[in-house]
Amino acid sequence: MVSMSIIKKWFSAARIVFAAITFFAYAAPAQRIEANIKITSPASAYVEGRLIKENSNQTILNWSFANSIVGIENLGARISDFNLSGENNQTIAFVKLTDGEYLASVEAAAFRYRVNLNLPVEANAAAHVSWLDDDKGLLMLGDLLPQIAASNKAISARIKFDLPVDWKIISNEKNTGENTFEIKNIEKAIFFVGKNWRERELVNEKISLSLAIAGEWKFSDDQAVETAGEIYAEYQKLFGETSTDKPQIILVRFPKETKFGRWAAETRGASVTVLSADMPFKTQSVQRLHEQLRHEIFHLWMPNRLALTGNYDWFYEGFTIYQALRTGVAMNQIRFEDYLGTLAQAYNLDNLQNHKISLVESSKNRWRGAGSQVYVRGMLAAFLCDVALLGESKGRRSIAEVFREIYRQHRAPNKPEDGNTAILKILKNYSELNSVIEKYIAGAEKINWETSLESLGIETNEENLKTKLSVKKKLNGKQKHLLIELGYNNWRKLSDKRK
Ligand SMILES: [Zn+2]
Repeated sequence: MVSMSIIKKWFSAARIVFAAITFFAYAAPAQRIEANIKITSPASAYVEGRLIKENSNQTILNWSFANSIVGIENLGARISDFNLSGENNQTIAFVKLTDGEYLASVEAAAFRYRVNLNLPVEANAAAHVSWLDDDKGLLMLGDLLPQIAASNKAISARIKFDLPVDWKIISNEKNTGENTFEIKNIEKAIFFVGKNWRERELVNEKISLSLAIAGEWKFSDDQAVETAGEIYAEYQKLFGETSTDKPQIILVRFPKETKFGRWAAETRGASVTVLSADMPFKTQSVQRLHEQLRHEIFHLWMPNRLALTGNYDWFYEGFTIYQALRTGVAMNQIRFEDYLGTLAQAYNLDNLQNHKISLVESSKNRWRGAGSQVYVRGMLAAFLCDVALLGESKGRRSIAEVFREIYRQHRAPNKPEDGNTAILKILKNYSELNSVIEKYIAGAEKINWETSLESLGIETNEENLKTKLSVKKKLNGKQKHLLIELGYNNWRKLSDKRK
C-alpha cells in the first residue's frame, strides 16, 4: 500500500518535487558548438570550445549562461575564468555585465571558462542542474554551455568529455566516439558520469530503454528496469507509439545524505532523472519506485513530445499526477483505497488554501509559491474531468481519450501553439467538461465534488475536520459499472487471487 507520508510528499510542493522541462526548437539549427568538457576535482568543469555559425549572418556579441532553472537561481555565478578569442587565436575583449553575462567587443570564434559544479544547497535542485561529487555527477548542457542563440532555434553540438580515470558516461545522445557525443539540441542533453554505477537494458520487440542505477537499494536492478518497462509499455499503449527512440532512466541517490523518503526528479527530452533517498522497508521502497516512474515516464510523452508552449503546468503536472495514480490502480500497484486516499488528501489540502486562484493563473507562478495549487487542484480537476467523461459516456470514454486527442493534435513536429489555449480548446469539445473548466481551470471556485462522487457511489466522511472517501456499501448498477471502469475491481480480483 501507499503510505500517507508518501502521498503527503506529493503535495508538499511548495518546493519542486517533479518537473518536466520543455524546450522548443523547430527550425534547422543555426548555431553549433564544438567543445571539450574536462571534469576535474574538486567539482569543476573546464569548458573549451568553438562557436560555429551555420547559415546565419547574425553577429553574436552577447554571451550568456542559464541563470535560473525551475526556480533555482543565480546559476550564472558558477561561471568563472571566462575568455574569448578570435579566429586567429587573438584575445577578444569583453565586459562582464553580471554573473554569467558577457558582452564582447567584436565577434568571437572560441571560448573557455570554468564552471563550479559544487552540489546545490537545496538537495532537490540536484535533479535540475549540473553537479559533481567525489564519484559521480549529472551534467546538463543547458546550464554548462553558453546560450548564444538569440532566437528559439536549437543549438547543436559535438562534445568530447574528458573524465577522471575509471569514470564512465551514459546518455541517450548519439555516441560517436570515446566519450564523444553528437547532440541535436543542447537544452535537452543530460549526461550521467561517475564510477560504480550499473547499467541495465531492456530491449524487446516493443520497447527499448536503458537504466543507469547507482547506490544500493532495497529493490534489485532487474526489478527496477522491469518495472520501468512495464510502466513504459502501459503509456505506449495509451498514446499508441513510443515516446522516443530510446529513453534513458537515471536512478541515483541524493549526493548528500537526506532523510528517508525524500526525492526529486526531472524528465528532460528523453531522459528521466530520479534522485532519491531510500525507504526504511522494501515494500515502501518498491512502491515509491513505482510512484516515481509512473509520474516521470508519463512526461516522456506529456509534455516532452508536445509542441505546446507557455505555462500550462496545471495540465501536464496536475493531470500527470492523476493519470499516474489511475495507472497505479490499473496495474495493481496501488489499491483503490489508495487512489481515494490521495484524492481526499488533495481535496483537504486545497481546502486549506484561503486564497484560491485559477489553475491557468497558478501555472504562471509555479516557481513563486503557487506550486502546490498546480499539483493539488490540477489533479482534482483531472479527476472531475475523468468522472464527467465516464458518466456522460456510460463508461466508454475516460480521461485517456483526452490525453490521446491532445497528443494526436499537438505532438511535435506539429505547429507550436499556446498550451493553455490548445488544451482548453480540446477540453471544451466535451460539453460535460464545461463546468469543471469554468469553475476550477479558468475559475477559482472551491471544489464541490459531491455530485461527481455520488455518480460513482463514493461517499464522504468527516474525521478530525478532514474529508475521507469510501465506496458506499450499496451501489446501483451504474455506479458499479463506473467504479469498475476506474479500476475498483482490479484490487478485488487481486485479493481474491491471493486468498
Ligand atoms: Zn511532473
